[in-house]
Amino acid sequence: MGVERTFSLIKPDATKRGITGLINADIEGAGLRIVAQKRILMTRAQAETFYAVHKERPFYGSLVDYMTSGPVVAQVLEGENAVLRYREVMGATNPESALEGTIRKKFAVSVTENSVHGSDSPENAATEIRQFFSENEIVG
Ligand code: ATP
Ligand code: MG
Repeated sequence: MGVERTFSLIKPDATKRGITGLINADIEGAGLRIVAQKRILMTRAQAETFYAVHKERPFYGSLVDYMTSGPVVAQVLEGENAVLRYREVMGATNPESALEGTIRKKFAVSVTENSVHGSDSPENAATEIRQFFSENEIVG
């Protein structure tokens, strides 16, 4: 395992409610270091590329609409086993199934407006980090 990096997005439902700081406190409280962070409004093209893996799913169009509906905070998180660790801290995709104390249980509005994204593998983390950050913007 060892120290690795994962990619995180704080999604529009959370930035609109002003809970970026609360989510960051949960991230840092779990021992994950925020080594890069920027608030951006994703273009449609960026959101389509980011969720290209879901292109054939029925919710793809509404997912892209939602992800471009307001600012997101893109982040690189670093720590022991960061990819799996952050998935645990986020909780299940659907907040109704998420465990007590997880970010999605505490803050998510619905299965789409679920407050955060985290990479699902180290390989995808590297690809997603590259989509939003250059190496000199990541300071460990
Ligand atoms: P993310 O990739 O955002 O971290 P995830 O890995 O838990 O979430 P995925 O299966 O990759 O879940 O789905 C990507 C996103 O698409 C979800 O976070 C959610 O916003 C949306 N989504 C997933 N499943 C559904 C669904 N059945 N209906 C509506 N939206 C969905
Ligand atoms: Mg996913």
